[in-house]
Amino acid sequence: AKRDERGGYSFYAADQNERLAAHRRLLDEMRRGIRNGEFFVEFQPRFETSSRRIRGVEALVRWAHPERGRVSPAEFIPQAERSGLIIPLGEAVLRDACRTIAGFDAISVSVNVSPVQFRDPRLVEIIASALDEAGLPAHRLELEITEGILIEDAERARQTLGRLKEMGLRLAMDDFGTGYSSMSYLCDFPFDVIKIDRKFVSGLHDPGRGRAVVQAIIGLGQSLGIGVTAEGVETNDQLAMLMQLQCREVQGFLLARPMSPEALRLLESDAKAP
Ligand code: C2E
Ligand code: CA
Ligand code: CA
Ligand code: CA
Repeated sequence: AKRDERGGYSFYAADQNERLAAHRRLLDEMRRGIRNGEFFVEFQPRFETSSRRIRGVEALVRWAHPERGRVSPAEFIPQAERSGLIIPLGEAVLRDACRTIAGFDAISVSVNVSPVQFRDPRLVEIIASALDEAGLPAHRLELEITEGILIEDAERARQTLGRLKEMGLRLAMDDFGTGYSSMSYLCDFPFDVIKIDRKFVSGLHDPGRGRAVVQAIIGLGQSLGIGVTAEGVETNDQLAMLMQLQCREVQGFLLARPMSPEALRLLESDAKAP
């Protein structure tokens, strides 16, 4: 009924109401989905560029919605963050990822940690318990963090990152270069890895600026003694250029898509076959 009122203000209000209702519906469905086990984790391999061996995997959450099919994390993660649901969901992903990867030989697992989870005072405890329960050594868990953690309380973020480093975890700076303060963030916090955002990798075909930017980020990592992983590698040309620039690790659809633990098992045994 409201939708038929075309007066400017009420139309806008109806639009707002609809968005709010959609938001609530999505949250209800997410809560139900968590209870019903509709969420699961896929793993996308990261390869050492020089040897083409799998060095680790990134854990990526998936939602198999009973009516809508697969819902993209780009759609539900922001809503989960706004509502706080990311805290239980993120914990479930972390525990699943640790348990799954403990069943593999040497590879490490990278888990995305939302800034909202980062503000949860129980985060360090939850991580310690996930490692312990899975029997996974801390050095095989890498946390992928975006500069969103800086926004509220940089001092607390620094303390938390310090404690995680002491435990032996590795810290990766996700989506490097897409935010406003990537550089100061890199100076102020003890990162072990920089992940170059897909946006820059897709700019590699530009022999001028595009390539220069990627080259500079890789050089920055080398000067700081920090590993660099390029994400979103989709073409052989991109891979060839990243090899030439001596980017340490590569990840992308060209090499492997996110996959189930069973598929990862097959890929790993293929890689080992003589
Ligand atoms: P991200 O952390 O930057 O993750 C990489 C995204 O790029 C993944 O999308 C992956 O599937 C996609 N990708 C990998 N290789 C390629 C490629 O060659 N080409 C293209 N076009 N895409 C590629 P996905 O799984 O849809 O996740 C989107 C975002 O949702 C992630 O971006 C991350 O920010 C968030 N996310 C996913 N899982 C989790 C999670 O468990 N916790 C949190 N907090 N965030 C998550
Ligand atoms: Ca990531
Ligand atoms: Ca990323
Ligand atoms: Ca991203």
